[in-house]
Amino acid sequence: MIEIEVVQGDITKLAVDAIVNAANCSLLGGGGVDGAIHRAAGPDLLRACIPLNGCETGKAKITPGFKLPAKFVIHTPGPVYRDGQHGEPALLESCYKSCLALAEENDCETVAFPAISTGVYGYPWEEATEIAVRTVRNFPVQKVKKVIFCCFGTEMERIYREKVLGARI
Ligand code: ADP
Repeated sequence: MIEIEVVQGDITKLAVDAIVNAANCSLLGGGGVDGAIHRAAGPDLLRACIPLNGCETGKAKITPGFKLPAKFVIHTPGPVYRDGQHGEPALLESCYKSCLALAEENDCETVAFPAISTGVYGYPWEEATEIAVRTVRNFPVQKVKKVIFCCFGTEMERIYREKVLGARI
Protein backbone atom coordinates (compact mmCIF):
# COMPACT_ATOMS: atom_id res chain seq x y z
CA MET A 1 0.00 0.00 0.00
CA ILE A 2 1.12 3.53 -0.69
CA GLU A 3 2.46 5.54 2.23
CA ILE A 4 0.86 8.97 2.66
CA GLU A 5 2.47 11.82 4.57
CA VAL A 6 1.10 15.30 5.25
CA VAL A 7 3.57 18.16 5.64
CA GLN A 8 3.18 21.89 5.85
CA GLY A 9 5.44 24.27 3.98
CA ASP A 10 6.96 25.18 0.66
CA ILE A 11 6.90 22.37 -1.90
CA THR A 12 9.98 23.77 -3.65
CA LYS A 13 12.11 22.72 -0.67
CA LEU A 14 11.25 19.03 -0.84
CA ALA A 15 13.97 16.60 -1.93
CA VAL A 16 11.69 14.03 -3.53
CA ASP A 17 11.75 12.34 -6.92
CA ALA A 18 8.95 14.55 -8.25
CA ILE A 19 6.99 17.57 -7.12
CA VAL A 20 3.71 18.39 -8.79
CA ASN A 21 3.05 21.86 -10.11
CA ALA A 22 -0.53 23.17 -10.08
CA ALA A 23 0.09 24.80 -13.44
CA ASN A 24 -2.13 26.55 -15.94
CA CYS A 25 -2.78 25.22 -19.45
CA SER A 26 -0.06 27.34 -21.04
CA LEU A 27 2.62 25.72 -18.82
CA LEU A 28 4.44 29.03 -19.09
CA GLY A 29 4.30 29.95 -15.45
CA GLY A 30 1.89 31.85 -13.28
CA GLY A 31 1.32 32.84 -9.69
CA GLY A 32 0.94 30.75 -6.56
CA VAL A 33 2.79 27.48 -6.42
CA ASP A 34 3.58 27.68 -10.14
CA GLY A 35 5.46 30.96 -9.66
CA ALA A 36 7.30 29.60 -6.65
CA ILE A 37 8.39 26.49 -8.55
CA HIS A 38 9.63 28.48 -11.56
CA ARG A 39 11.55 30.88 -9.32
CA ALA A 40 13.22 28.07 -7.41
CA ALA A 41 13.96 25.90 -10.45
CA GLY A 42 15.49 28.75 -12.44
CA PRO A 43 14.94 29.85 -16.06
CA ASP A 44 15.77 26.43 -17.51
CA LEU A 45 12.36 25.26 -16.33
CA LEU A 46 10.55 27.76 -18.55
CA ARG A 47 12.84 26.81 -21.44
CA ALA A 48 11.86 23.17 -20.93
CA CYS A 49 8.15 24.02 -20.74
CA ILE A 50 7.93 26.05 -23.96
CA PRO A 51 8.28 23.07 -26.36
CA LEU A 52 5.66 21.08 -24.42
CA ASN A 53 2.98 23.23 -26.12
CA GLY A 54 0.77 23.52 -23.08
CA CYS A 55 -1.33 20.89 -21.38
CA GLU A 56 -5.04 20.16 -21.14
CA THR A 57 -6.83 20.43 -17.80
CA GLY A 58 -6.63 17.09 -16.00
CA LYS A 59 -3.59 15.88 -17.96
CA ALA A 60 0.08 16.17 -16.96
CA LYS A 61 3.53 16.72 -18.46
CA ILE A 62 6.96 16.21 -16.93
CA THR A 63 10.21 18.16 -16.94
CA PRO A 64 13.45 17.97 -14.99
CA GLY A 65 13.59 19.87 -11.70
CA PHE A 66 16.72 21.86 -12.65
CA LYS A 67 17.81 23.84 -9.57
CA LEU A 68 15.15 22.28 -7.35
CA PRO A 69 16.05 19.53 -4.91
CA ALA A 70 13.38 17.45 -6.68
CA LYS A 71 14.48 15.46 -9.74
CA PHE A 72 11.32 16.14 -11.73
CA VAL A 73 8.44 18.57 -11.92
CA ILE A 74 5.11 17.13 -13.04
CA HIS A 75 2.93 19.94 -14.34
CA THR A 76 -0.84 19.55 -14.22
CA PRO A 77 -3.48 22.20 -14.85
CA GLY A 78 -6.31 21.69 -12.38
CA PRO A 79 -9.91 22.68 -13.13
CA VAL A 80 -11.15 26.17 -12.43
CA TYR A 81 -14.00 25.68 -9.95
CA ARG A 82 -17.35 27.10 -11.08
CA ASP A 83 -20.12 25.32 -9.16
CA GLY A 84 -19.03 21.68 -9.09
CA GLN A 85 -21.46 20.84 -11.92
CA HIS A 86 -19.04 21.37 -14.77
CA GLY A 87 -16.95 18.24 -14.47
CA GLU A 88 -14.65 19.68 -11.83
CA PRO A 89 -14.47 16.56 -9.60
CA ALA A 90 -13.61 14.24 -12.51
CA LEU A 91 -11.02 16.68 -13.83
CA LEU A 92 -9.38 17.08 -10.44
CA GLU A 93 -9.28 13.31 -9.98
CA SER A 94 -7.76 13.05 -13.44
CA CYS A 95 -4.96 15.45 -12.41
CA TYR A 96 -3.90 13.18 -9.55
CA LYS A 97 -4.12 10.05 -11.74
CA SER A 98 -2.20 11.62 -14.64
CA CYS A 99 0.57 12.76 -12.30
CA LEU A 100 0.89 9.37 -10.64
CA ALA A 101 0.96 7.64 -14.03
CA LEU A 102 3.80 9.92 -15.16
CA ALA A 103 5.63 9.35 -11.87
CA GLU A 104 5.38 5.60 -12.43
CA GLU A 105 6.68 5.90 -16.01
CA ASN A 106 9.67 7.87 -14.73
CA ASP A 107 10.51 5.48 -11.88
CA CYS A 108 9.65 7.95 -9.15
CA GLU A 109 9.32 6.51 -5.65
CA THR A 110 8.43 9.72 -3.83
CA VAL A 111 5.98 12.32 -5.13
CA ALA A 112 4.82 15.54 -3.47
CA PHE A 113 1.52 17.20 -4.37
CA PRO A 114 0.33 20.71 -3.59
CA ALA A 115 -3.42 21.14 -3.08
CA ILE A 116 -4.24 21.43 -6.79
CA SER A 117 -6.93 24.00 -7.76
CA THR A 118 -7.41 25.26 -4.19
CA GLY A 119 -5.75 28.63 -4.75
CA VAL A 120 -6.80 31.01 -7.49
CA TYR A 121 -8.81 28.21 -9.16
CA GLY A 122 -11.17 28.33 -6.19
CA TYR A 123 -11.89 24.67 -5.47
CA PRO A 124 -13.51 24.24 -2.02
CA TRP A 125 -10.78 22.88 0.24
CA GLU A 126 -12.68 20.00 1.88
CA GLU A 127 -13.94 18.66 -1.44
CA ALA A 128 -10.57 18.99 -3.15
CA THR A 129 -8.84 17.22 -0.28
CA GLU A 130 -11.36 14.38 -0.33
CA ILE A 131 -10.66 13.83 -4.04
CA ALA A 132 -6.88 14.07 -3.58
CA VAL A 133 -6.72 11.54 -0.77
CA ARG A 134 -9.21 9.09 -2.29
CA THR A 135 -7.58 9.15 -5.72
CA VAL A 136 -4.07 8.61 -4.36
CA ARG A 137 -5.24 5.79 -2.09
CA ASN A 138 -7.01 4.01 -4.94
CA PHE A 139 -4.24 4.38 -7.49
CA PRO A 140 -2.66 1.04 -8.42
CA VAL A 141 0.93 1.94 -7.65
CA GLN A 142 3.90 -0.16 -8.59
CA LYS A 143 6.92 2.10 -8.20
CA VAL A 144 5.59 5.06 -6.24
CA LYS A 145 6.04 4.20 -2.59
CA LYS A 146 5.23 7.46 -0.89
CA VAL A 147 3.04 10.48 -1.60
CA ILE A 148 3.52 13.68 0.36
CA PHE A 149 0.68 16.18 0.52
CA CYS A 150 2.41 19.50 0.93
CA CYS A 151 0.01 21.96 2.53
CA PHE A 152 0.48 25.70 2.45
CA GLY A 153 -0.79 26.92 5.80
CA THR A 154 -2.08 25.31 8.97
CA GLU A 155 -5.75 25.26 7.96
CA MET A 156 -5.01 23.24 4.82
CA GLU A 157 -2.78 20.95 6.87
CA ARG A 158 -5.60 20.37 9.36
CA ILE A 159 -8.02 19.43 6.58
CA TYR A 160 -5.54 17.00 5.02
CA ARG A 161 -4.66 15.38 8.34
CA GLU A 162 -8.32 14.92 9.09
CA LYS A 163 -8.89 13.18 5.76
CA VAL A 164 -5.73 11.10 5.84
CA LEU A 165 -5.68 10.09 9.48
CA GLY A 166 -9.32 10.60 10.36
CA ALA A 167 -8.14 12.68 13.30
CA ARG A 168 -7.92 16.33 14.16
CA ILE A 169 -4.60 17.86 15.12
P1 ADP B 1 -4.45 26.73 -8.59
O1 ADP B 1 -4.43 27.67 -9.76
O2 ADP B 1 -4.38 25.28 -9.01
O3 ADP B 1 -5.55 27.03 -7.62
P2 ADP B 1 -2.46 27.96 -6.80
O4 ADP B 1 -0.99 27.99 -6.96
O5 ADP B 1 -3.19 29.27 -6.80
O6 ADP B 1 -3.01 26.96 -7.90
O7 ADP B 1 -2.81 27.22 -5.43
C1 ADP B 1 -2.72 25.81 -5.25
C2 ADP B 1 -2.36 25.54 -3.81
O8 ADP B 1 -0.94 25.67 -3.65
C3 ADP B 1 -3.00 26.48 -2.79
O9 ADP B 1 -3.48 25.72 -1.70
C4 ADP B 1 -1.83 27.37 -2.38
O10 ADP B 1 -1.99 27.84 -1.06
C5 ADP B 1 -0.68 26.40 -2.47
N1 ADP B 1 0.68 26.96 -2.58
C6 ADP B 1 1.07 28.19 -2.98
N2 ADP B 1 2.42 28.28 -2.94
C7 ADP B 1 2.88 27.08 -2.50
C8 ADP B 1 4.18 26.54 -2.24
N3 ADP B 1 5.28 27.27 -2.43
N4 ADP B 1 4.26 25.26 -1.78
C9 ADP B 1 3.16 24.52 -1.61
N5 ADP B 1 1.91 24.95 -1.85
C10 ADP B 1 1.77 26.22 -2.29
